[in-house]
Amino acid sequence: MRTNVLVCLIIVGGFVVTSALSYQANYGASLQNIEQVSRLASGSMYHQLNTTFSKPLNVSLTMANDSLLKLLLSEERDREDDPSYDETIRTYLGEYHELYGYESVFLVSADTGRYYSYTGSDRTMNPEDPANDWYYDLLKSGEAYAANVDNDDAANGEVTLFANCVIRDAQGNALGVVGVGMRIEHLQSLFRQYHDDFGVDAYLVDAAGTVEVSANHDVGENLNYFDVHPFTEEQKAELTSWDSATESLGFWAGESSGVIPVESDYVVARFLPDAGWHLVVERDTSELLTDLRLQLAETLAVIVLIVGVILFVITSVIRNFNRKIVNLTQSIERERRTAFEKATQHLFEDIYELDVTNDRPANEAAEDYFESLGAPRGASFSEGLAIIAEKQIKEEFRDGYLNTFSPDKVLEAYEAGREELRYECMISSGGEYYWLRITGRIVKNDEDGAVHMLVYRQNVNAEKLREGHMRRLAMTDEMTGLYTKSATERVIEQALEEDRAGLFAFFIFDIDVFKQANDRFGHAFGDTVIKSFTGSIRSAFRKDDVIGRIGGDEFVAFASVPNEAWARRKAEELSRELDRDHVSNGKTWHMSASIGIAFAPRDGSDFDTLYKHADQALYRTKEKGRNGLTVYGED
Ligand code: GH3
Ligand code: MG
Repeated sequence: MRTNVLVCLIIVGGFVVTSALSYQANYGASLQNIEQVSRLASGSMYHQLNTTFSKPLNVSLTMANDSLLKLLLSEERDREDDPSYDETIRTYLGEYHELYGYESVFLVSADTGRYYSYTGSDRTMNPEDPANDWYYDLLKSGEAYAANVDNDDAANGEVTLFANCVIRDAQGNALGVVGVGMRIEHLQSLFRQYHDDFGVDAYLVDAAGTVEVSANHDVGENLNYFDVHPFTEEQKAELTSWDSATESLGFWAGESSGVIPVESDYVVARFLPDAGWHLVVERDTSELLTDLRLQLAETLAVIVLIVGVILFVITSVIRNFNRKIVNLTQSIERERRTAFEKATQHLFEDIYELDVTNDRPANEAAEDYFESLGAPRGASFSEGLAIIAEKQIKEEFRDGYLNTFSPDKVLEAYEAGREELRYECMISSGGEYYWLRITGRIVKNDEDGAVHMLVYRQNVNAEKLREGHMRRLAMTDEMTGLYTKSATERVIEQALEEDRAGLFAFFIFDIDVFKQANDRFGHAFGDTVIKSFTGSIRSAFRKDDVIGRIGGDEFVAFASVPNEAWARRKAEELSRELDRDHVSNGKTWHMSASIGIAFAPRDGSDFDTLYKHADQALYRTKEKGRNGLTVYGED
């Protein structure tokens, strides 16, 4: 997840930076492009318009300066009723109509106010009629000519561009106005063409800001160019006063603080001296913005698509990789477990896992084990433990077992920092008891945070038997099979410890003049004497009594006795039995024993004291002439 987010952030960041840079570069270039296109379009239009305007103006001026026309006008009053007069003027105007193809060719007499056209005279000018303002305005202005766009009444009210010139006599008095008119449809279609080809809008605007010609407006609308364009006062003033015939004026419309507004128009204005109008060409940024936004949207879509694809690929690759790792880990784990199980099969019985914190078995082996002992399915760990103790563990080990492995003891051990618990006990699963070593490894489970214990059970019977054998060997005198001196001491101390109140007899037996047997018949013969001597002692006592060799020919017997007399009798019997000829290898030697007896607890409660006192009694027997017995304290 983190990798995905990081990769996405890097990609998105990269795209955003790239897009922003390219947007900025595109935007700047596009603005320059708008300026260039507007200038070029305006230049080209300007050229065409100048040609369009200059021609009718020249024709009109030619007529205005024609002396024939001036003469005709001077005769008007006199020939008022002469029908040929009208005909002459009509023919005159008709010739110009024929020659140049202008839809309208007309003459207005200043004297009579009559309006003549090449189709004939049909009206008289009336200063009250606003439709005639163009005429009176021109006369009033004192200008030689003027351009005017109007509906031509003579041609079904079609919108017409008129080039009107004042006719003056030699004194400069206005004799009338002559003019030609041509349809401006082709101007409008020219404007439309430029709009379609270059995206520019063009207007012909007079000095007052009135739109004379545009691609889409009608003459009667009386539209003021500045009403619908957000120009500042300075821009407006600059545009209306621009009168260079060669230079163009270009600027971005609206308030500008050095930065071009997002939505704005680039305006190029040129002055048309023949018409006294301005050609205003403008191009706005809306198309550019639409294009850029579209481009931005496309880029965004591409980013989303690419990020989506990359995410998909990364996720699949990571998933695949994870799956492989998991599989690999699992197979390695399986292999290890198999190898481990193989290696430990002979060491461990089943391995059980227990959830100690929640007091329940944590693997199937544990559950099955509890169940096999009669616990209900789902029994708790402590219930299972009690059942095992009761049914399988040998009685003397039960408390120790429960004290080691009950949940609270395990948790206590865990708190104390112990990682392993171990207990050895005798257990039976129906048959004979055998030694089992139970090892519990305490671990914290990563998944649920509970303390778990893994229990390994190891049959250590053989080990224990070996151990016992070794121990016994270490405690045993090789020649006689009796306890060594140190083992004798230890075992007697233990017996005294276990039963402090009981009556015990402590006997010491010493072979009389044994040195003599060695000296006379050899060391090997001496050994047979010792074996025969100890054989008699051993058979005189019970299995649980302690018999040990504490010197070369000195032996101890320690037995719990019902009373002192019984012990004395036992010693007398033995003394008699040991007083015999020993025959070995054809050699005979007379054997006898000196015996010393002490009683616990009367003569001592520990080995050393009892030994000392019994030895004193033995010494007394030797003193008395050997082959006999003495009880400590008696003579
Ligand atoms: P006493 O009646 O005073 O006990 O006389 P003794 O000869 O028995 O006295 P002593 O204690 O001086 O002699 C014991 C002898 O036992 C000395 C030693 O050489 C011999 N001896 C000790 N251990 C062995 C053994 O394992 N085998 C043999 N053959 N002789 C041993
Ligand atoms: Mg001796």
